[in-house]
Amino acid sequence: MIAICLHRVVPEILPEMRPYRLRGTVITTKELDRLMQRLSESLTPLPVDTALSALGNQDLKRGFCLTFDDGYSDNLEYAAPILKKWGINALIFPVSGLLDRSMEILPVDSWYWLFVSAAKHRFSLNLRGYSTEFNLQHPGSWTQVVHGRLKELFLRLPWPERKAKIREFSQVSQPRISQEEFANGLYLDQEQIKGLVNEYGWRIGSHGRTHAFLDTLDPNDLCREIEGSVGFLENFPGFRPVFAYPDARISQDIQPCLNRAGIRFAFVLGNRPVTVSDPEFALPRYTCQP
Ligand SMILES: [Zn+2]
Repeated sequence: MIAICLHRVVPEILPEMRPYRLRGTVITTKELDRLMQRLSESLTPLPVDTALSALGNQDLKRGFCLTFDDGYSDNLEYAAPILKKWGINALIFPVSGLLDRSMEILPVDSWYWLFVSAAKHRFSLNLRGYSTEFNLQHPGSWTQVVHGRLKELFLRLPWPERKAKIREFSQVSQPRISQEEFANGLYLDQEQIKGLVNEYGWRIGSHGRTHAFLDTLDPNDLCREIEGSVGFLENFPGFRPVFAYPDARISQDIQPCLNRAGIRFAFVLGNRPVTVSDPEFALPRYTCQP
């Protein structure tokens, strides 16, 4: 069995989607259609519940299933109708803090916002003694935005510190739109998540409460991050006890938290099929690089 990890699906790649494209977290509706066609030629499309019970029985069919991370609203608008046409549902991993409005934007989206909305082309940013010079007219700089060390350091910051850094960095890059505007309509809300379940038969898993990298949290925060998310989502129709590690960062301490939250399976990345020897809490998924 193979599991696919997708994020955003849009009709066309707009300039502000450049970092997502470089990172492999956005594909077009056409590409999703082509992906479905290619996969269906040799593999059986597995509805989520069929795939999960196959995993539970260690009877890994020659099929594929689809997962979507983070809960972007384009999943409902563009991805779900295409998958419906192909007669398959998907497992979505929303970030519960975005659904209960305890956070407004994902860390990675606020990072991208600093650049895609920047009024300035050339500037340098510093974080914990590490500094990077950006020239956004230069393609190499976008590679730095998406894969550079500064991004990694930024995403690993604890929330209050990151908030302060966002303010500081935005004074440097001078985004033309506010962060709120950038995030407006970007994510599914609670009703839309229910719509995915009720109208399209999708299933819901947990992706944490705040998308914090799990390997940066102490054991208490780690369990709060998992249980807070599961506790919120298990009231939704279509919830299944499945977890996807944010950014595929596995933490050694997580298994007791997952057990306590009643999670049965957890996905990472890995670009290979799931085999019977894969631990239930580290199932590989393919990413989709167009
Ligand atoms: Zn994610």
